[in-house]
Amino acid sequence: MAAYDFDIGIIGGGSGGLTVAAGAAQLGAKTLLVEKEKELGGDCLHFGCVPSKTLIQTAHVYHLMKNAQKFGLPPAEIKAVDFREIARRIQSVIQIIQKHDSEERFCKLGVKVEFGEPAFMDEHAVQLNGKSISAKNWVIATGSSPAIPPAPGLDRTPYVTNREMYSFERLPESMIILGAGPIASEMAQAFSRLGTRVAVIQRSGQILSNEDKDMADLVMEVLRGEGVTFYLNTSVVSIQDLGKEREVVIQAKEGKTLSLKAKTILVALGREANLKGLNLEGIQIPYDDKGLKLDTRLRTLHKHIYGVGDVTGAYQFTHAAGYEGSIVVSNAIFHLPRKANYTLLPWCTFTDPELASIGMNEKRAKAAGIEYDIWIEEFKDNDRSLAEGEQVGKIKMILDKKGKPIGVQILGPRAGDLVSEWVAALNGGVKPMTLAAAIHPYPTLGEINKKVAGTYLSSKIFSEGIKKGLHFIFHLKGRACHPAGEETS
Ligand SMILES: Cc1cc2nc3c(=O)[nH]c(=O)nc-3n(C[C@H](O)[C@H](O)[C@H](O)COP(=O)(O)OP(=O)(O)OC[C@H]3O[C@@H](n4cnc5c(N)ncnc54)[C@H](O)[C@@H]3O)c2cc1C
Repeated sequence: MAAYDFDIGIIGGGSGGLTVAAGAAQLGAKTLLVEKEKELGGDCLHFGCVPSKTLIQTAHVYHLMKNAQKFGLPPAEIKAVDFREIARRIQSVIQIIQKHDSEERFCKLGVKVEFGEPAFMDEHAVQLNGKSISAKNWVIATGSSPAIPPAPGLDRTPYVTNREMYSFERLPESMIILGAGPIASEMAQAFSRLGTRVAVIQRSGQILSNEDKDMADLVMEVLRGEGVTFYLNTSVVSIQDLGKEREVVIQAKEGKTLSLKAKTILVALGREANLKGLNLEGIQIPYDDKGLKLDTRLRTLHKHIYGVGDVTGAYQFTHAAGYEGSIVVSNAIFHLPRKANYTLLPWCTFTDPELASIGMNEKRAKAAGIEYDIWIEEFKDNDRSLAEGEQVGKIKMILDKKGKPIGVQILGPRAGDLVSEWVAALNGGVKPMTLAAAIHPYPTLGEINKKVAGTYLSSKIFSEGIKKGLHFIFHLKGRACHPAGEETS
């Protein structure tokens, strides 16, 4: 049997790579982790989830301060933000989490961490910092970068992406955001709340285009109400640097053009897999901008070379990368064949209100040709939501024709946390009846989960047929009161 330096080598020390490294080493595999940056943690820690959610919380607090009177408080004296302070707070949160993702911690787990950019020499060996290193299995976990569109003039105009937007010296006065996906929508609201004049340009007729339109439109209305301007069904004609500001010329579907000007352009138009420079061509591993070509066990054409995280081109979330990491550990180290199954992958867009999703939404159900029923409850009828000053949003439970829940969409306060009950329910095959009968603490936002299940059950239990049956068997006498004008029978 060939002697390799390592049982498993992982390229990329972000969400996916760290999961595989920790799992493999703790199972006793001789594990190598290679990272090209100076620190581990990847996009999520340094330029993604962690800094964006920290910035969102700062913007949320500032928004509450500005709206103190809505809570019966005296108006607060609001000063303009100093973005350097916000950037410091973001860095301090990153530094705390960095300890968890440090070389020392991974060494303690038994992982050899090397820094550099490896390239495959053959199917088992890479060239790294002038040495050849071999491993029985390899995992490509190199993540993704912002996709930069070929918009005329963009290459000659200064712009920022998610890598630069947490370290501004001062708050941008105005910002044009290209794209209206989750990152664009979250940042549009956060910067707008902090005081930036924000315009969002979107090619299609809806923001958050993977979501149901009614939910996405509600998010847009909230952002619009806070001052964000949206240009939907619009394409970018040209971009140019005017010195003190930048100009983006857009064209609406009907042909009308418009010139928009702002100090800053933020490009948030999707992601491109980081696969160049690994010499995948040299070992005949096919890929495109979206990612690697993988089978359901996350293997490339070479069955011992796997892909996890954003390079899979599937779902670009930290928890998806972690899930895929566990699949690879199972396949490569345990030799227990496991396939990736994304049917119940949840996610959340952290706008305020948040928009969380698990399983089918109406769009996906229609595309899959599934017939469904929907049940809706609104946050304006949830006591806790009202106490907190939150009235916008709803939960949408989607059932197949047999009454089995196949998906839930929640738009509302802390929707990302509320969806967790459905993660357990849908994974555990819990019926709406169980959820409706389970005692939930009052007053909580989570009661909306019980209520939507209960409303569905009520429609079955309080039917005319059941009423007639009870009337017949137990001689019930029927209604004791009739509102004025309602006919008695
Ligand atoms: C602004 C923003 C907000 C986000 N918010 C969320 C969120 O709230 N929730 C969520 O679930 N997801 C969020 N994401 C997505 C999440 O960050 C990614 O899905 C996740 O980081 C993917 O993990 P990964 O391991 O594939 O890649 P990464 O975590 O990026 O790790 C890849 C690593 O590989 C390294 N690397 C790249 N090329 C090489 C090479 N040639 N050699 C060696 N190392 C290399 C990189 O330096 C990096 O450390 C957000 C992303 C962005 C941009």
